[in-house]
Amino acid sequence: MGRVLIIGAGGVATVAAHKVAQNPDVFTEIMIASRTKAKCDAIVKAIGNPNIKTAKVDADSVEELVKLLSDYKPDIVMNLALPYQDLTIMEACLQTGCNYLDTANYEPKDVAHFEYSWQWAYKKRFEDAGLTAILGCGFDPGVSGVYTAYAAKHHFDEIQYLDIVDCNAGNHHKAFATNFNPEINIREITQKGQYYEDGKWIETEPMEIHKPLTYPNIGPRESYLLHHEELESLVLNYPTIKRARFWMTFGQQYLTYLDVIQNIGMSRIDEVTYEAPLADDPTKTAKVKIVPLQFLKAVLPNPQDLGENYEGETSIGCRIRGLKDGKEQTYYVYNNCSHHEAYLETGMQGVSYTTGVPAMIGAMMFLKGIWKKPGVWNVENFDPDPFMEQLNKQGLPWHEVFGGDLEL
Ligand code: NDP
Repeated sequence: MGRVLIIGAGGVATVAAHKVAQNPDVFTEIMIASRTKAKCDAIVKAIGNPNIKTAKVDADSVEELVKLLSDYKPDIVMNLALPYQDLTIMEACLQTGCNYLDTANYEPKDVAHFEYSWQWAYKKRFEDAGLTAILGCGFDPGVSGVYTAYAAKHHFDEIQYLDIVDCNAGNHHKAFATNFNPEINIREITQKGQYYEDGKWIETEPMEIHKPLTYPNIGPRESYLLHHEELESLVLNYPTIKRARFWMTFGQQYLTYLDVIQNIGMSRIDEVTYEAPLADDPTKTAKVKIVPLQFLKAVLPNPQDLGENYEGETSIGCRIRGLKDGKEQTYYVYNNCSHHEAYLETGMQGVSYTTGVPAMIGAMMFLKGIWKKPGVWNVENFDPDPFMEQLNKQGLPWHEVFGGDLEL
């Protein structure tokens, strides 16, 4: 049905590549391209399908991307590299007539700030070119938006209160590790919190608001209010929303480490000068510039290596209150994903799994012609039903609770 190019070879890309390969009726030709080609080759070896092609590309370079896209001519590019590469890949897609999908919105490297405006600015160019760009198609953002669209379509006349709740109750037996790219993750959670209420965005200090929430099959876990990108598009697409918030669980040990990392300056994203030994003569030194957070990433456990001993599960969902037929209704839709089962299937832990599977389903929706419309779109702009059907088939089954206590 279609030719897909996956860019990136990290945890999320590994899962997406496994799932793409499991659906050969839809994905008839596959290429994985990343900065380090050996990592692409290792994924192909793990999948055991020698027909999958690999290539080296620096996705910060529009020129290199244009060359690769012109040679391979994919129907859709799945950007599973880092948010820094979103705009260069979108630009290359426009120059070569390719459709686009990603899982995280653009962030400039030198400012820890994420918002959709940079990518929404490409809407007219994608429309004019007759190309589709699907933004934020992981779990959150991604399935969180599809769940909301499904709730709006089937269970509510008016969504009024939306809380996205993300719990990782897993244990990887490391003192401190992040579940996806450490640099992106630490930038995200050390920012100020933000939520939407009565037409306004309200800013909080980082981790200022928290409360225990009860997660299915897990129990109560302290949950912290963060700003999360999908809130930005959801409050625009569902204007009846009075309040929208995002909650994520963190253990006490994780927060203690994070506090230390911040207090000693290791979460800084500006350059510092460091006197480093020369590679060819370690008795001599030279001044080099390093970004502390990038250095920290180099010494932290690699999220891709957490899978083997990871126990427990994630639970991510939407808790929604609103009106149906004039009456107040509550609705909770969620998925629980076992880290160990994800590892057995793909070699990766649950956080990579819950992101890579929806990315594959988004690309599948496009290739089947169901999620295909020129422009730049968030996932809730498309029909949620066929996506929800695939979640059940592709390893992320969902459950619904009507009329329960949302605790929020
Ligand atoms: P990893 O760090 O494991 O993987 C990133 C990959 O991108 C690496 O293979 C890296 O190459 C490659 N890469 C980085 N820079 C470039 C470049 N300039 N050119 C080519 N390739 C490059 O990250 P994850 O797999 O954990 O995360 C991938 C994406 O998924 C991120 O954008 C993250 O924010 C997003 N995400 C989204 C979630 C959601 O639910 N929506 C949840 C979790 C993650 P190399 O191997 O050489 O370093």
